[in-house]
Amino acid sequence: MKTDVLIIGAGLTGLLLAYRLKKSGISVKVVEANYRVGGRIHTISSKNETPIEMGATWFGVHHQNLIQLLEELELPIFEQFMEGTALFEPLSTAPPQKIQLPTNQQPSYRIQHGTSTIIHKLSSCLNTSELLLNEQVTRIEHRNDELIITTNLTSYKSKKVVSTLPPRLLLNTIQIQPQLPNELVDIANKTHTWMGESVKFGISYEKPFWKENQYSGTVFSNVGPITELYDHSNVENSRFALKGFLQNGMSEYSKEQRISKVFNQLEKLFGNDALNYLAYEDVLWKNEPYTSFPSSEFIFPHQNNGHPYYQKGYFDNSLFIGGTETSPEHGGYMEGAIKSAQYLSKKIIPLL
Ligand SMILES: Cc1cc2nc3c(=O)[nH]c(=O)nc-3n(C[C@H](O)[C@H](O)[C@H](O)COP(=O)(O)OP(=O)(O)OC[C@H]3O[C@@H](n4cnc5c(N)ncnc54)[C@H](O)[C@@H]3O)c2cc1C
Repeated sequence: MKTDVLIIGAGLTGLLLAYRLKKSGISVKVVEANYRVGGRIHTISSKNETPIEMGATWFGVHHQNLIQLLEELELPIFEQFMEGTALFEPLSTAPPQKIQLPTNQQPSYRIQHGTSTIIHKLSSCLNTSELLLNEQVTRIEHRNDELIITTNLTSYKSKKVVSTLPPRLLLNTIQIQPQLPNELVDIANKTHTWMGESVKFGISYEKPFWKENQYSGTVFSNVGPITELYDHSNVENSRFALKGFLQNGMSEYSKEQRISKVFNQLEKLFGNDALNYLAYEDVLWKNEPYTSFPSSEFIFPHQNNGHPYYQKGYFDNSLFIGGTETSPEHGGYMEGAIKSAQYLSKKIIPLL
């Protein structure tokens, strides 16, 4: 049977678009290459069931569409803990400095019980014939007024297709027939994939030693390997963790080497307490499948996000290119993914 809309990718854009279209009575199929939903949203349960965000975590009051969606889905939020002394490492030859962060900063928020709750809430409205995991789309063909989508397992026919892959990944990993305009291919190849090379890590602890010593857990470092660190305890304050980013170059080291370097730095910052941990987790996003496509040229952060070529339909308005990087506002962020899904649902619903 032909589906009205086949969506490639079960990240935030794909799942929200499917949710909106299905509510409007349109038949959908979401095809996801990975074994899990969520894409760049990935909450893991560390030792002692401490939830740790390996992908998207924070948002602010300016992310209005995300806040409205969380209200609609009845998912509560909480403020990022920042109280206490922060630490700043300006130079490897100077000791860490204690700093008090200004209190008038706009706070950041997190989703209670993890960012993935938004993904699970959206995907729960899809049945097993509407959400297909472990199926990588390899080809899209426009033939005789219909689209034929080939995966590693089978093929589907659909009236409309929406890709939610970062544009550079789409154009380099899915064969599209007939070819898309050269100008679009060129722009897609120069569109940055937000956080595609980042290294995120989290450490769970039995006790929040940093809070007990009047530290917020916040660290900014020019020295590394940790560049940023924050308290990552759960909303109930019953599971404790620190979480942050490592220098991108850390992906060249083995996990043992990364662990050794991270704890050397933490010991210097917080003393022996930091070594008494439950579990260390990290994700090297550049090695994560189906996330980004490597480039030998430097692409500036957010370069070409929201380009006008992404606002058009292709093959007589049957193929659309979505995903957070295609949003003219907040491209790269969860807010951009939501705006992309909303833009596409408004565009596609009247066509069907
Ligand atoms: C480490 C990190 C930290 C971040 N922190 C924040 C933050 O604090 N705040 C914030 O707002 N945003 C943050 N982001 C960005 C946020 O995660 C993204 O904006 C958002 O999740 C993008 O959603 P998306 O659906 O557009 O794309 P994606 O999540 O990339 O979804 C694309 C989907 O397509 C699938 N796919 C790929 N190829 C194929 C194929 N051939 N066939 C089928 N499926 C395929 C992928 O597996 C994936 O599920 C962060 C991202 C990362 C990686």
